[in-house]
This record gives sequence, structure tokens and C-alpha cells, in this order.
Amino acid sequence: MSDEHKEIIDELGTDHVSYGTRTVGEIRKIFVDRDACIGAQSCAVIAPLLFQMDDENLAYVTDNDLNELDEEIIKMSAESCPVLAIHLYNKEGKKVFPES
Ligand code: SF4
Repeated sequence: MSDEHKEIIDELGTDHVSYGTRTVGEIRKIFVDRDACIGAQSCAVIAPLLFQMDDENLAYVTDNDLNELDEEIIKMSAESCPVLAIHLYNKEGKKVFPES
């Protein structure tokens, strides 16, 4: 895990996370705070190639090539989360969503 990922995890205040990275576009890192996730599943419905649900009904980031994903779909899936458990970061490691 890179220092940048550790910083984000520190910022989120939990290491119970799942994350994926992209090398293209505005959104470069996608984190799910699995402590916050309540299993509402809207992220996995909107972006099934990005999020799936595990045995505990918690969302995780899939192993798919995330570069292939439409950024609007990524943003919509994050915005759909009722507890804002999905955090998006840009290339510089700044949070894109949710705005603090
Ligand atoms: S939308 Fe949020 S609460 Fe629902 S499964 Fe996804 S991360 Fe969890």
C-alpha cells in the first residue's frame, strides 16, 4: 500500500476499507468506508462493474479495470450512497466527493 493510500485511510479514520485506483480521468481513487456502509446496495446497482456486495452485505471495489468506467457513473454511484460511505479522490489525492 502506498503512503498516499495510508494518508487517505488515516483521514477516513478506519482501516476497514476497500479501494481501487484509476490512471485516467479526474477520479483516480475510489474508497468505500466499510464501517459506514449499511448495505443499501445502490452503489452496486448503479455501478455493478465498480461495486459488489460481499457475504456481509457490505460493498467492496471490484477487481475490474476501473479505467474503463464512465466517471459520471462513478460519481452517481457515490452520490447515491445514503451514508456517504464512498469517497472519491483526484490525481493530487484531494477529495472530489463528498465535499467537506
Ligand atoms: S450505497 Fe453506500 S451504504 Fe449502500 S452498499 Fe454502497 S457503500 Fe454501502
